[in-house]
Amino acid sequence: MKKELLFMGPPASGKGTQTNRLSKEMGLPHIDTGSLLRAAIKNETESGLIAKSYIDKGQLVPLEIVAKVIKERLMEADCQKGFILDGFPRSLEQAVALDEIRKEIDAKSDVDFKVINFEIPEGILLERIVNRVSCPKCGEIYNKKFTPPKQDGICDKCGAELTQRKDDTEEVAKSRFETYHRETEPLVKFYNERKELIALDAEGSSDEIYQRIKEIV
Ligand code: AMP
Repeated sequence: MKKELLFMGPPASGKGTQTNRLSKEMGLPHIDTGSLLRAAIKNETESGLIAKSYIDKGQLVPLEIVAKVIKERLMEADCQKGFILDGFPRSLEQAVALDEIRKEIDAKSDVDFKVINFEIPEGILLERIVNRVSCPKCGEIYNKKFTPPKQDGICDKCGAELTQRKDDTEEVAKSRFETYHRETEPLVKFYNERKELIALDAEGSSDEIYQRIKEIV
């Protein structure tokens, strides 16, 4: 059966870290709209140029752009057995767009679809964001304060130089939290009513949270 997992939660709630690990273990692609959009910016595509101004302000990139990027990605061959979506959908209109995309791509498959909602007190998240660094090569995520790499600024896994995201500043992060409450939180009710939402206690060590996720999936 095709497996489609959707990870939802506020910025820096651990979705990326957990998805990276689960995606490797399950052999399912990790599809993260933030990274797809950052790649489009780096490649200076038309979508990337538009996306940049929204990302820099911590606002949602318009639906037409995100839906196009995500649809193209979900139609690639490696998504036929399933995928883990991280950071999409983030608004009701995006959830409706995802339903439409899934109607097309899942027409011939039986699907196990689950939405996992990372529940975590917001107080600790801002500190996580401003200390976050990641590996541009393999995607590994570190925190300079809580989970630093062995050698300062260097990825433990592949030796590449770690970078900090431009939108991981206190000012932009505050705007991202506002956007999350206004646009994304209503999706909890949306998927709950459809009995597709599973609440995840996302507080604790990374290993503990991973085990909880494994029990769900
Ligand atoms: P993230 O890497 O998930 O923290 O996303 C970084 C930024 O990319 C967000 O603050 C948004 O500006 C943009 N972004 C990521 N995913 C979406 C989405 N599903 N819809 C609109 N904008 C998005």
